[in-house]
Amino acid sequence: MEEANVANVMSRTTSRGAASVTGADRLTLARRLLPRLQAGEDIGDAANRLVQEAAADDDAIGECAALYTALAAAALSADSERSRSAAARMVHRGAEAGLPVWEATGRQYLARLHLADGHEDVALREIVAAELLLDDAKAGVGLAVALNGLAVTYCRIGLHEDSERTFARLAELNGVMDDQWAVHASTYNRILNHASWAVALATAGREDDAVERAGLAAEQARQAPDLTGSPAEHDFLAVCLFAELFSGEIDLAEALQRRDATLEHALGEPQSYVRFALAHTLATERRWEEARAEVDAGDAAVNPNEREPIRSALVWERARIAVREGADALGIQDVWRYACLAGAQVWELRRRRGDTVHEKLRVGRLEREHQRIERASLEDPLTGTANRRRIDRERAALLSATTAGWATVIYLDIDRFKAVNDLYGHDLGDVVLRQLADVLRDTVRDGDLVGRYGGDEFVVLAAHCSPSDAEGLRDRLLVAVRDHPWHRLHPDLQIRVSMGLAAARERRQDLFPAADRALYRAKRGGRDRAELTVLDGPEQPELTVTT
Ligand code: GH3
Ligand code: MG
Repeated sequence: MEEANVANVMSRTTSRGAASVTGADRLTLARRLLPRLQAGEDIGDAANRLVQEAAADDDAIGECAALYTALAAAALSADSERSRSAAARMVHRGAEAGLPVWEATGRQYLARLHLADGHEDVALREIVAAELLLDDAKAGVGLAVALNGLAVTYCRIGLHEDSERTFARLAELNGVMDDQWAVHASTYNRILNHASWAVALATAGREDDAVERAGLAAEQARQAPDLTGSPAEHDFLAVCLFAELFSGEIDLAEALQRRDATLEHALGEPQSYVRFALAHTLATERRWEEARAEVDAGDAAVNPNEREPIRSALVWERARIAVREGADALGIQDVWRYACLAGAQVWELRRRRGDTVHEKLRVGRLEREHQRIERASLEDPLTGTANRRRIDRERAALLSATTAGWATVIYLDIDRFKAVNDLYGHDLGDVVLRQLADVLRDTVRDGDLVGRYGGDEFVVLAAHCSPSDAEGLRDRLLVAVRDHPWHRLHPDLQIRVSMGLAAARERRQDLFPAADRALYRAKRGGRDRAELTVLDGPEQPELTVTT
């Protein structure tokens, strides 16, 4: 969005009230706050105002987008309580408004917070739930935000392969979406994941793999889009410097020469990666004092609230420097062996975390597939209403119910539908069936069942529906079918239906046959009408009302 447009939206928000501001506008506004955050400004209040305005407007997308920005602000400050409540609110709003991408974004944030608290099980459950929510999510800016967040969370908890897999999906989305913000954020974060991966390998004692991974990071950085002028530019350049130095593509002298200018405008996290690589290389050249100074500078740059994994890597590097400098000092070799054992255990823990996540994802997807198949086995594929199997099941349940009270059954059949197919084609006939199903679903009450017996015959099962309720339903249905804009499908098209209704106080086996007979009477009586049969007590003869 251009500056002018943003200013325009801003003025609409402030001077003319928020009525004309859409979720997409607020998403843009919320994202415009992020560079200010990066520049060190406190945007917490501005983000919260945006949250409140969106909530007052019942604008769920706008609220979630603003919460996302509020979360970013809270994460940089010491306020983990505020992060937690904003993330929980986003999960709630996303779920309530049917916005899986925002629910997932909230959940991956919660995962990070749980992990920071040491609640690994809950954290992994949240991150899996987030990924499952995104499986079928629609392409768009919300999905880009969610995938970026999910990938960063995978990186934070040491699941670098999953992070890379998620970034690859985001890159595909970016290819078709042309959203600069998403491209810039993910370009930087993706390289950062490789850097984090390389450092994790190094601290697990796998130096060669670490160097290779850094090389891949440098390679990916070379292929990345140009970030000049983007808010992520300086962070990107810093993490590139890490990759080039750690992979050996540039030498220490060049890295030291580029260091200050590169780090000047970068965030703390990428700075600390560069410091790590410098310390590591300086120690290899036995330049102990300088190496220690780099570790200190890296440590100072880490945000203690974000629990970035680079923090423990810097501690590891300090120990490595100590053992290299004073290898003969009493006990230091044992301390280092202990550190290496612990490092290997951390690597093993990471592997198990990955296994847990993959197993949970597999089970989650299987469960969903199972539910899908079960739903499909009870659903008419053309109209999405209940199929014969489901109707028979509900029919048995309705008839066996022990609770007394009125129930009504409606058989409904399109008049002269064969002619519709003959005149306008079978495809248009299918559209008519689908639209009629929608009309029926929209007209009955929640809890009533609409099904298709087959062909052009539908059924409605309405529990707790007395004869007078049934009359109301019958009239509403006839009007809804007549008033539906069928002419939009074809100027000459008119659809009418005949209905047979049967209402009974007790559960009785003749309820459905009575509806069937009523439909037959409606057809024979001239069509475009309804016949209602009231079965009132076993001894009563059938009462028939014609409309
Ligand atoms: P009536 O008023 O007596 O009900 O006349 P009708 O032409 O509707 O007669 P009937 O109910 O016997 O015909 C049903 C027609 O529905 C026959 C068939 O062409 C059509 N039909 C059945 N299933 C489908 C379907 O899945 N799609 C389409 N387009 N047509 C179907
Ligand atoms: Mg028919």
